[in-house]
This record gives sequence, C-alpha cells and structure tokens, in this order.
Amino acid sequence: MNVTGKTQVLALFGDPVAHSLSPQMQNAWIADHGIDAVYVALPVTGEDAAAFFFGLRSARLKGANITVPHKELAATAAHVTEERVANVLRWEPDGRISAFNTDGKGFLRALDDAAPGWRARVRNVLIIGAGGAAAGLAPTLEQNTAVKQIRIVNRTVGRAEAIVAMLSWGGVGLWQDLPTLFAEADLIINATTLGMSGAPSPPWPVSRCKPSAIVVDIVYRPLETPLLAAARARGLIAVDGLGMLIHQGALSFELWFGIRPDTAKARARLTQILEAET
Ligand code: NAP
Repeated sequence: MNVTGKTQVLALFGDPVAHSLSPQMQNAWIADHGIDAVYVALPVTGEDAAAFFFGLRSARLKGANITVPHKELAATAAHVTEERVANVLRWEPDGRISAFNTDGKGFLRALDDAAPGWRARVRNVLIIGAGGAAAGLAPTLEQNTAVKQIRIVNRTVGRAEAIVAMLSWGGVGLWQDLPTLFAEADLIINATTLGMSGAPSPPWPVSRCKPSAIVVDIVYRPLETPLLAAARARGLIAVDGLGMLIHQGALSFELWFGIRPDTAKARARLTQILEAET
C-alpha cells in the first residue's frame, strides 16, 4: 500500500473498534480492485462524540462505517438520510454526507447464502436481544420477508418493548418462556453479546426446537458459539455471524465505490484470521 496525499480515506468509528475485522476485510477488497484508498479503525469515545460527528461535515473522507455506540449519532450528523440508525456514511462530491444502514440487508443476504429457501418457510421469528443490532434486524425482517410474527426477548424488557413499538407483527417475550418460544420459532436469532469470547452463555433450550428451525448467532468471535454448537449437534441449520459482517461490509463498499466485492474471498480470508486466534 502506497499512501500519498491523494489516497482516499475511509474509517470505522466506534468504541471499541480494536477487535473489528472490518479493516482487514475492506483493505483486502481495496487491494483486490487496485483502488488508492485506506480503511482504518478509529475509536471515538466520551462526551464529545456528538461534536466529532458534526465536525465530520467539514472533513472530506471517502466513507465511514459506524459501530456501537454511535449509530444514532451518525444518522443525526448526516445531511441526507432516511435512517434513524446508520452504519455507513458516504461523502458526496459536494461535501454533503449521506447516511445508510446496511446491517439489516447484510443479515438477509447472509441468511440467503447459508440457508437458501428460508424465506419460503420462516413465519415465526424469535430474536434474543434488544440492542442496536436487534433494532436494525427486526424492522428489516418485517418489511422485506413474509415473516408473520417477531418475538423479542431481552434481559431489559423495556428495550424489547421499544423495538416492538416499531413493528406491526411484533410482541415481547419473557426470558423464562424461552423454552416455549424456542419450540414455536422457525428462525431463532441471538443478537445479544452472550456467547462472545469471554462472555457467559446460558443453557439455551435448543432441544425444544422444531427439526426445521434455523438458528443464527450474530456473534462472530468465536465463529462457533455454544448456541450454534448446540444447534448443529441437533442437526439444525446453524448460521454464524461472519456472513452478516461480510455482507453489510460488501454493501458499504458498493455504496462507496460502486463495485460489488467478492464476499466468498472475504469469508475465506476472515475465517483464516479467526481460526488463527483459537
Ligand atoms: P448492544 O447494543 O450493546 O446490545 C447488547 C445486547 O446484549 C442487549 O440486548 C443486552 O441486554 C444483551 N446482553 C448483554 N449482556 C447480557 C447478559 N449478561 N445477559 C443477557 N443479555 C445480555 O450491542 P449490539 O450492537 O446490539 O450487538 C449485539 C451483539 O451482536 C454483539 O455481540 C455484536 O458483536 C454482535 N453484532 C454482530 C454483527 C455482525 O455483523 N455479525 C453486527 C452487529 C452486532 P440489555 O438490553 O438487557 O443490556
């Protein structure tokens, strides 16, 4: 990589960002296409984050990804957006910033890859978690698929209620009812941090699942979480979080450069990085 004064700059803004695979993924695609650009991860912390995002209006980057906890702030700071929560910023030729959200679409594409035919049979969805990721997934599922019911279960019930309020087909479930909810669901999504390396994982009631159930864990470190291992052991379709990461990143790349990057190549590269960690 030969960085000069003309090199286009892209960044990941969030806190924390050091664990992110986005720099490896995006810089590899940038190299694949011989683009003069560089993608870096930049922690944005503390009370002045709002000033930082509004200050970006006077910067001239090529683009940015936004992660926890700044997705709402990023949407607010953009000149043009239809999103309440944004994970992509793009600087237009006139300097104005447009904001987008590719998380939901990335999730759908990952599921299309890993569980072809899922759209024809998934009607009842269980989402565990009500953080930023769940808030993006639930409306996307409702608006872009034939799903008829979305139950959201979260440790803090009020956050689940806030997401359900955005839905037409939604309802809040209780943690103690998980065995019944697992038994009813066609698609089960873990959108909490439970199961991440270093975080606990509860005894998920996977034994109650229908044989046709699809289980997704959007956590991707480790790739095989305890939830996915239990689902696979039961013979269910188990989908890891790497696909969502790659597809939201590919959609970001396309928004910045107008090129669809190679997602299969990204999966091979990132799997190698993750496997080297274990
Ligand atoms: P977030 O906004 O911080 O939300 C965290 C969620 O985890 C909340 O629902 C929280 O419940 C729950 N939680 C945390 N500790 C818990 C515990 N001990 N017991 C029960 N619930 C607990 O984070 P996020 O952005 O939604 O991300 C959630 C996960 O998805 C993270 O692991 C993240 O790495 C992953 N993710 C993956 C992708 C991808 O592309 N694959 C994209 C985005 C996120 P409370 O509301 O009760 O605190």
